[in-house]
Amino acid sequence: MRQNQLMLSTLRESPGDAEAISHQLMLRAGYIRQVAAGIYTYMPLGRRVLRKVEEIVREEMDRAGAQELLMPALQPAELWKESGRYGVYGPELMRLQDRHEREFALGPTHEEVITTLVRNEINSYRRLPVTLYQIQTKFRDERRPRFGLLRGREFLMKDAYSFDTDWEGLDASYQRMYKAYHRIFERCGLNFRAVEADAGAIGGEGGTHEFMALADIGEDTIAACTHCGYSANLEKATSRATTSAGSQAHAHNQAASVPAIEKFHTPSIRTIDQLVQSVGAAASDILKTVVFVADEQVVAVVVRGDHEINELKVKHYLGAENIAIADAETVLRLTGVPTGFIGPVGLTLSVLVDQAAAELASGIAGANEGDYHYRNVQPGRDFELSRTGDFRNAAEGDCCPSCADGTLQFYRGIEVGHVFKLGTKYSEKLGAQFLDAAGKSQTMIMGCYGIGVSRVLSAVVEQHYDANGTGSSGQWGLRLIRCISFQSR
Ligand SMILES: [Zn+2]
Repeated sequence: MRQNQLMLSTLRESPGDAEAISHQLMLRAGYIRQVAAGIYTYMPLGRRVLRKVEEIVREEMDRAGAQELLMPALQPAELWKESGRYGVYGPELMRLQDRHEREFALGPTHEEVITTLVRNEINSYRRLPVTLYQIQTKFRDERRPRFGLLRGREFLMKDAYSFDTDWEGLDASYQRMYKAYHRIFERCGLNFRAVEADAGAIGGEGGTHEFMALADIGEDTIAACTHCGYSANLEKATSRATTSAGSQAHAHNQAASVPAIEKFHTPSIRTIDQLVQSVGAAASDILKTVVFVADEQVVAVVVRGDHEINELKVKHYLGAENIAIADAETVLRLTGVPTGFIGPVGLTLSVLVDQAAAELASGIAGANEGDYHYRNVQPGRDFELSRTGDFRNAAEGDCCPSCADGTLQFYRGIEVGHVFKLGTKYSEKLGAQFLDAAGKSQTMIMGCYGIGVSRVLSAVVEQHYDANGTGSSGQWGLRLIRCISFQSR
């Protein structure tokens, strides 16, 4: 085809609402056009690049022994009710009704459909393991679609599902996908890290990894060691206690000399910043207390003033389904303490204390009385340390949890892939069973593996654009064009 026939129009200016560079450049270079918020048409050039990424994914999935199929985007609500997710998935699930008023969902994922399929197709151990995948359009009703293809409401994904007879089998299936993902993202020219992620209530250590393309626009924070290979999503990252045994003993000796607790007047001083300003204390010497409602429980969590509470860690510790910060009204009703003055001393709630806060020789804390704080608060002396653990986000500069020499450094990342050991979560609920060699009925062990195919395009552009990068001259443009020429051969 002649170039002058190609439907390609470039824009001199980037549309005002495009915040991400990749969004701006793909619009300007005529790769995509917006139809509605978070919904795009891939123009001829964009479609060619997308197909190239699809081909890379397909080749590596096939090489790893996975079989391609194609499932429907439109899924009956019954399946989602059977798995128990229809009620809990939330507003992100696109729901609709047909003319008979039967309920359907536009799939954001396909665990229900695939598990039901395999349940009906496979009943013997002889036909396992099997890994199935598709490259398909997914839907998610984002509250705030943004950044072009990075957070859309309709997007292209590769999703794969493995079915094994035992946990060792799942480990092997997982490893095959993990390696295939490395090859895929390398072939796409991405600078990426496979990071440990939070597995939620399912799956143990190493049960899930996210593949993160490093880019400032990324919505995830990755904590990576400066020395060894450790890297984890911030929600999951831990750090080694900064105080050695020796200095802990030192802190303990110091603690013996901590003067008695003393109440002092702090009118309208409600935040850590205000305390630092008015009292002149370091944030790290303040004991910050936040009240959470976790399912039916109400707990107070204490961290150092310079640390952030990690809700997910608190949630897992309590074994809760849902967790949220208690609003001011609830706190006042339960404790009688106005916002900003709560503290662990004499508090009637159950108190969880972060390890780093527990190690303070003494600190400043709310006095559980309006306009007052305590100083010389000594953890263990002035409040109990029976529920101590890791309840905070790792901080930049913290000691690496898996080596002796490194410290944690933070990066931003775009999640382009995710591998996950599901175990029996869906196979149990949906009854995916097989007969083992002894003729005994067993539940299949599952894994699931996603790649945001359209998101990869944005990630490539975010990493490779330059000042001239509007499609025909910049490095990202060259990379995409190279993809195109390969495709058209
Ligand atoms: Zn390390």
